[in-house]
Amino acid sequence: MKIKSVFARVIPNSRNQPTIEVVVNKKYKAAAPSGASTGATEVKAFPNKGINFAVDFINNYNDFTGMKFEEFNELEVFDELIGNIGGNGVIALQFAVLKAMAENKVWKFLNPKAKKLPTPVGNVIGGGAHTKEKASDIQEYLLIPKAKTFEEKAFLNSYIHKKIKTVVNAKHKTDEGAWITKLSDIEIFEALNEFLDDDKNTLGERVNLGIDMAASEFYKNNAYEYHNFSKTVKKRKLSRKQQIDFVNSLIDDYNLKYVEDPLDENDFLGFSRINKKTLVCGDDLITTNLDRLKKAIKFNSVNCVIIKPNQIGSVIKTKQVVDYAHKNNVKTIISHRSGETYDATISHLAVAWKIPYLKCGIYGKERRAKIEECIKIEKEIFE
Ligand code: PEP
Ligand code: MG
Repeated sequence: MKIKSVFARVIPNSRNQPTIEVVVNKKYKAAAPSGASTGATEVKAFPNKGINFAVDFINNYNDFTGMKFEEFNELEVFDELIGNIGGNGVIALQFAVLKAMAENKVWKFLNPKAKKLPTPVGNVIGGGAHTKEKASDIQEYLLIPKAKTFEEKAFLNSYIHKKIKTVVNAKHKTDEGAWITKLSDIEIFEALNEFLDDDKNTLGERVNLGIDMAASEFYKNNAYEYHNFSKTVKKRKLSRKQQIDFVNSLIDDYNLKYVEDPLDENDFLGFSRINKKTLVCGDDLITTNLDRLKKAIKFNSVNCVIIKPNQIGSVIKTKQVVDYAHKNNVKTIISHRSGETYDATISHLAVAWKIPYLKCGIYGKERRAKIEECIKIEKEIFE
């Protein structure tokens, strides 16, 4: 594939904040998302001079024209532009060139033998940094569906999302399309469990529960500060030890199969004390950074890692993290950001790189884009 043209522009993400879109050879488009509960060790989404500088840099960079690309690893040449175009600029550029190489069939280009779709992990109730309204302290209450096909799993998530609105008396949604409720953290666990147990369609047997605590967001002055803890106790401060005990009790009491960022983003040792009978996942802890993943494995902090390409600002480095995790028996979950675009490259990467989970929300066009892409790929593989 030969590059004839590269064009960059500013587009709004789902939160109506500016992000970057790159178009290669007038046909192959890609964009990068943005987080709200970002990890302190993520790369900068845009350079210090701002998003417009990144866009102008790409549009005035003459060296792109005539470049030839045959293989995934060749995308590494763009890594060095990070200082000029930021992590988001590099990711949008690499995704667009990858799509051009693959003529949009990225999964097949990367791994023609791929046969497995990821399980869609979807947040059904949310709060924390993903809304300005009074809501839960826990950022995401997640569904992990069990079914034969991706399409059936996605349907289960949508079905429950639709039903749960009235169960928790919700009116609005978070940035990621999860329901916002005034119920406390504990009441939400109770409501979800009760709903799944009571359902006539035996939903309880077909869905597991998980959470993303995004605990760094409410870790202040050496304590975890809850504002909506339970029905009777709204404000509650937990010490590190109490938080560890609390999370372990939640795992037991509500049979949680997935717990993301239960502690502050620098507490590698604290993570090691969370019960590994569940998937204990590092997002802000690891920020798709190989050195941090190695440290987390050494400390036995996690048995699962979030994969967000724009956290590290290189699709090549992202692949290294995925490979290292799999080699060391650490599960991977590729994830959207709270400020998303229609780009669905992560769906392709999940299939090609055999990533078992895709966290991409349930509701909203930017979330559906990733789900629909997986349903399309499932059809391409099995029909
Ligand atoms: C997350 O914390 O997993 C998440 C998707 O949030 P954000 O994109 O705001 O970092
Ligand atoms: Mg997270």
